[in-house]
Amino acid sequence: MKSHKVGFDPMLAKASVQQNASISADADAIIIGAGISGMYQLIRLRELGMKLRVFEAGSDLGGTWYWNRYPGARFDSESWSYGYSFSKELLQEWEWPEHFSAQPDTLRYLNFVADKFDLRKHITFNSRVKSAHFDDATNLWTVTLENGEKCRAPLMITGLGPLSAPTLPNIPGRDSFTGQSFHTARWPHDPVDFKGKRVGIIGTGATAIQIIQTIAKDVGHLTVFQRTPNWAAPLHNRKITPEEQVKIKANYPEIFARCRETATCFIHQTDQRKALEVSAEEREAFWEKLYAEPGFGIWVGNFADVLTNKEANALASDFMARKIRERVKDQAVAEKLIPKNHGFGTRRLPLESGYYEVYNQPNVRLVDINDTPIECITPEGIKTSAEEFGFDILIFSTGFDGVTGPYDRIDIRGPGGRSLKQEWIATPRTFLGVMAEGFPNMLMVLGPHTARGNIPRNIEEIVDWVTGLVIHMRKHNLKRVEPKPDAVHWWADKVEEAVAGLLFAEVNSWQTGINRNVEGRDIRRTLGYYGGAVEYRRIADDVAAGGYREFDFA
Ligand SMILES: Cc1cc2nc3c(=O)[nH]c(=O)nc-3n(C[C@H](O)[C@H](O)[C@H](O)COP(=O)(O)OP(=O)(O)OC[C@H]3O[C@@H](n4cnc5c(N)ncnc54)[C@H](O)[C@@H]3O)c2cc1C
Repeated sequence: MKSHKVGFDPMLAKASVQQNASISADADAIIIGAGISGMYQLIRLRELGMKLRVFEAGSDLGGTWYWNRYPGARFDSESWSYGYSFSKELLQEWEWPEHFSAQPDTLRYLNFVADKFDLRKHITFNSRVKSAHFDDATNLWTVTLENGEKCRAPLMITGLGPLSAPTLPNIPGRDSFTGQSFHTARWPHDPVDFKGKRVGIIGTGATAIQIIQTIAKDVGHLTVFQRTPNWAAPLHNRKITPEEQVKIKANYPEIFARCRETATCFIHQTDQRKALEVSAEEREAFWEKLYAEPGFGIWVGNFADVLTNKEANALASDFMARKIRERVKDQAVAEKLIPKNHGFGTRRLPLESGYYEVYNQPNVRLVDINDTPIECITPEGIKTSAEEFGFDILIFSTGFDGVTGPYDRIDIRGPGGRSLKQEWIATPRTFLGVMAEGFPNMLMVLGPHTARGNIPRNIEEIVDWVTGLVIHMRKHNLKRVEPKPDAVHWWADKVEEAVAGLLFAEVNSWQTGINRNVEGRDIRRTLGYYGGAVEYRRIADDVAAGGYREFDFA
């Protein structure tokens, strides 16, 4: 999207003061969340001279990288394609230590950004927003925190994150366990000592794979409870050499230009060939090459038909299954690790570093809970239909109520008390994923129905777009914005058109809105725009260039 970057504008600052005086708001805008989205939105709106309040539930900033401190947490994005791109100075000053950054380094990076741009003074930490109510008469949002504090502003911007509402498994006796227990997204700040401990972990998604491969060497014994195995491909992470560092810093314009060309904003571009149209040898050679290369190339840089054609997908799945059989010695275990209910790449692909080899260790055991379901959690551990397990530590790697979950956890009410949670029960209704139908003056960064991939690239574009809309409103002294119903209908159709034919839409996962641990989340919904970031950007740019005709202003 086009950047609307402006310097400090005294006229806009004056408008801000006048607006405040007439409607007695506490701020010009409230931003919820201080992750990558909230931090960048703060930077951009501050340039307009706006008075801002940022509320963050955590005790510090960083979002995902503040909360997810479990051992082994790291990017699947190339680090140098993930960082903010808006400041040339920042790009030259910061050095990523590894091609795929570990969580402590990413958190250090976000703190470096916060210090460089002096962000902390605008952010109120330990402040979970409980409710947000819009007053039709004054066009003000009133945000109420869990501690009862209130704040009013004409604009509310959500930077809640797609994966910030963790979910625990619905297992009887869950809270009765007397040892240490953790959800991976609520990991303690002090290190957990695994030495010699009996550890049980529930879940085998992207997070679980990272933690399992990391702690397996330290624990006394590890039991992995698996319901759905996931396809996983090698990450091939390594340190960035000083020579590479120089090259990366010199090449940032090319790196970000490349990300702008791809549907997912990663550096990996879909191959134009089709798996079904090349010879078996060519196919195999390409897959071997991708398997040996770092990052998501094997997922989003694969043959054009792998994620859309069942036959092509079955061939790719067969290739990946062979790899698992080669790497896991016990073939009965290998068979359990091979997904049977979804094809390769149809769920978010975990990247791994020695995950499969973990199952060759004598101190690691895989328990398939489809064969022997978990009956309950006991004070000592876990009881399945077949046996009882005793643990010192229990890890819940049971993921998130994705995309809409963080919205559902706030009582958001539009005009007439209309509840966002109720409105979105069947499916979210948005325009560009930036505004929800019927909720004026609420702008969403990375809300449902935006393009997502290498996420900071999407975030920067949406924040710039939102900033452009705010500039438009302030220039024309507009107090209220909401999408026209026609525009919402049109976007709903575009969202459904874009997802049609993608194999992932036929599979249960957080990306299709399924979470068996959340009541009512058993019906698939389309939670993103899957027509690609290039097309999303084109449409959003057209809307801005056309003077935002898809919105009603007052
Ligand atoms: C383990 C893990 C690995 C990931 N790896 C990658 C990767 O490799 N590449 C990639 O592109 N993406 C990855 N992601 C996605 C990641 O979430 C995004 O890259 C990015 O961090 C999102 O930033 P955000 O600011 O939008 O959301 P978040 O980082 O989730 O920040 C949202 C913030 O809002 C706060 N918040 C939420 N609700 C409230 C409330 N009611 N009141 C106050 N504050 C609230 C939260 O506390 C949080 O700090 C990963 C996610 C996870 C969980």
